[in-house]
Amino acid sequence: MKSKYKVVFLITSLLIVLSISISFLNYTISFSSVQKQLKSQVLPLSLDNIYSDIQKYIIKPHLLSSTMANNSFLKDWLKEEQDISKIKKYLLTTKKEYALFNTFLVSAKTKNYYSQEGLLEVLKEENPLNEWYFDFIKSDKKHEINLDLNKFMSNNLIMFINYKIFDENSKLLGVIGVALKTSYINDILKTFRTHNHFIVSFYNKNGEIVLSERNINYDYISYEKDNMESFKEKLLSKESSIIEYEKDGDTYLLNSRYIPELDLYLTVEANLKDFTYKVTNVLYFNIFVSLLITSVIAFLVYLIIKNYSKKLEFLSHNDALTKISNRRDFEFKLNTHFNLMKRKRNDICLIFIDIDNFKEINDKLGHHVGDRILVQFSKILKSEIRKTDLLARWGGEEFLISLIDSSVSDTKFLAEKLRVLIESDTKLNKIAKTHVTASFGVTKLEEDDTIDEAISRADKAMYLSKNHGKNQVSIL
Ligand code: GH3
Ligand code: MG
Ligand code: MG
Repeated sequence: MKSKYKVVFLITSLLIVLSISISFLNYTISFSSVQKQLKSQVLPLSLDNIYSDIQKYIIKPHLLSSTMANNSFLKDWLKEEQDISKIKKYLLTTKKEYALFNTFLVSAKTKNYYSQEGLLEVLKEENPLNEWYFDFIKSDKKHEINLDLNKFMSNNLIMFINYKIFDENSKLLGVIGVALKTSYINDILKTFRTHNHFIVSFYNKNGEIVLSERNINYDYISYEKDNMESFKEKLLSKESSIIEYEKDGDTYLLNSRYIPELDLYLTVEANLKDFTYKVTNVLYFNIFVSLLITSVIAFLVYLIIKNYSKKLEFLSHNDALTKISNRRDFEFKLNTHFNLMKRKRNDICLIFIDIDNFKEINDKLGHHVGDRILVQFSKILKSEIRKTDLLARWGGEEFLISLIDSSVSDTKFLAEKLRVLIESDTKLNKIAKTHVTASFGVTKLEEDDTIDEAISRADKAMYLSKNHGKNQVSIL
């Protein structure tokens, strides 16, 4: 590979490495900040929000149930259990007034279960469906909340808020309860999933999901499948905690919190991917943009290097001011011509040219004007020689022409022509504000010459012209 392409390759590689490392560094920082935020703020806050929503939902029926448990009419009626129509009416009115799913009353004495429809059944300890009642009255809790599927209640998940009723001697008279459908909770859960990408569930103390959004596939969140005992331990801890676990290559974060009112564990679960996809998209975008910029920069660097190397190459062969060949290039080419001449026996003649009194022009008009004269001077010389001839700026105001296949007389003729052209060139005259003249020395390259010898002979011929009054052609 050429060294100029090596530089482009090196710069491009460095830029690619740099931009990709910066993109990845950014990505890592953003990713961990999103993860941190999710753990420390978003999940706990959502958990609190759901908790307070549910609390709000529970407080009203809780109060109602408690008021009913202290109702003196109920207490009096339970002592007798005489007129069922009265209790039917009471339960129906309450149900309608508070838009409840159901209200019911159980007598401690008879175990009769009353609803707004009248006496529904007599509760029996051996009936598993009645277990809730016997468990409740045996407990020292004054009230409880149960979540249950009830066959009498159209197989819906129902929330029961039950209160014990005591007489003035603190003897248990029965249990009053209100029942509410949990569809409202379902709506909350759905909103959290669709709006916030959170899966919200309620676990009981056995680690089973008892309440979750309906019609949703919970396969992936069941820790039982993964047999993760430590997961269960953490989930069922009364302390709020964040659990992190992997599933199918995705990372999930789960925040759990114990809800004493329900004796359940509320969990909010999030797939990290749902929160970091923006960061990932930004990474792809960054990489794309940096590769694009890198390609543009690489292309520009390539163009600049190509341009500079072209310039450098040009300057290594040419004079920067007049753009014609420099001494080195001239000598090299003349050497080739000379070797050809020896083989083909062609004539090669040299014309050494030195501008007359150039120092004076410089001193009078300034170096800058001198430069312009040199440029115009070289243009005149160039316009009169053939493509195969060589022209070089030999030194300051000295030029050298090599003519191939040209006899001494032809060369002298050309030198004379150049002398006249220079002297009469209007542009030169205009720049120099006087006639510009030059002295010429012509010589022929002999076969036994060295190039240096021939050039020094041409130089000497030129000095002859200088000595004879300048602005003339001499041959040696
Ligand atoms: P002569 O007729 O004997 O040749 O006299 P001259 O003044 O031309 O010769 P001399 O060697 O005394 O001076 C040459 C001058 O050319 C001196 C130098 O400042 C000037 N010169 C050399 N190179 C450049 C150049 O690139 N630009 C300009 N403006 N002047 C240059
Ligand atoms: Mg000179
Ligand atoms: Mg001179």
